[in-house]
Amino acid sequence: MTYCLFVIGCQQNKYDASRLAAFLNSQGFSEVDEKFADIVFVLACSVRQTAVDKMFGKIHNWRKAGKKVFVTACILDNDKQKLEKLNVSYFVDFNDLYTLLVYCKTNNVYKVHSGTMYVPIMSGCDNFCSYCVVPYTRGREKSRSYDDVILDIKQLIKSGHKEFVLLGQNVNSYAVSEKRKAKSEKQMKDFVVLLGMINNIPGDFVFSFMSNHPKDMSDDIIHAIARLPKVKKEIHLPLQSGSDRILKLMNRPYTTRQYFRLIEKCKSKIENLSVTTDIIVGFPGETDEDFQQTVDIVKKVGFGQIFINKYSPRPSTASYKLGDPIPWSLKQKRWHILNEIANLN
Ligand code: SF4
Repeated sequence: MTYCLFVIGCQQNKYDASRLAAFLNSQGFSEVDEKFADIVFVLACSVRQTAVDKMFGKIHNWRKAGKKVFVTACILDNDKQKLEKLNVSYFVDFNDLYTLLVYCKTNNVYKVHSGTMYVPIMSGCDNFCSYCVVPYTRGREKSRSYDDVILDIKQLIKSGHKEFVLLGQNVNSYAVSEKRKAKSEKQMKDFVVLLGMINNIPGDFVFSFMSNHPKDMSDDIIHAIARLPKVKKEIHLPLQSGSDRILKLMNRPYTTRQYFRLIEKCKSKIENLSVTTDIIVGFPGETDEDFQQTVDIVKKVGFGQIFINKYSPRPSTASYKLGDPIPWSLKQKRWHILNEIANLN
């Protein structure tokens, strides 16, 4: 039996695809070019409508060519119903796949082109930012055990790799303690413990982690980055907007002032720190004044890199009911302004 993978979206999907491939190969399947595949496995992404449209176009063609199609990962309920109508052979719920893959004991490590290795340590999210589908499609936060993560990293070092990234939708909320639901100080420390354990693995390597939420960036984590020699001195800390009004609408529980103070604290504790961020332009109701506040803080912080996204309304999310009132051309204009500033840094 032959198969191919069609992967859209984030590093988590790429990682899941690599595990799925390892599992299928171990079961005697052969990975081939799309046109020769009997089965197509789609790792879907619902974060942008363009990705969803692309997926449906492709599925339509595969079904016409008589291929079986499995779809998993980030899919909204509405889209699941559309998939049924397209006669997609099977729908695999992400959580089932996750369980399946955890139990099939395949190699967990995913390689990217640059040579950096990605090691997921948690998935899902409890934060419910008003624009984001992740809590609906990936479910609530689940962290892998210390032992599983350490085992992956030891294998990675053994096979000669020297750089890797710990992955999670809300990575600095990593928690294996019983009290994780209480959002206690103990929960925060689980991640620090993991960083220390990885740092203590013998070998010549460095590592970083992403993506972080500002509210979970505790003093202990900042201290760990500063003192652990194998942790790279870089933090990806999504800001999303420089307007407190928009941050509130986004359900991001911090103000621009608090965010800036956090960055200042990180920079004062960690030598030669590079900070990168995510910004969304064109969130419903974003005025010129709101956008100017984003420009102001971006200039003030001096980010090493900025990942700029144009707002895309996603069904199921809280902000969906706000509509999409900002014209595409204005989103585009704001994107270009920020992009120019980002390139100046
Ligand atoms: S923290 Fe990130 S993954 Fe979680 S809801 Fe917000 S944007 Fe989505």
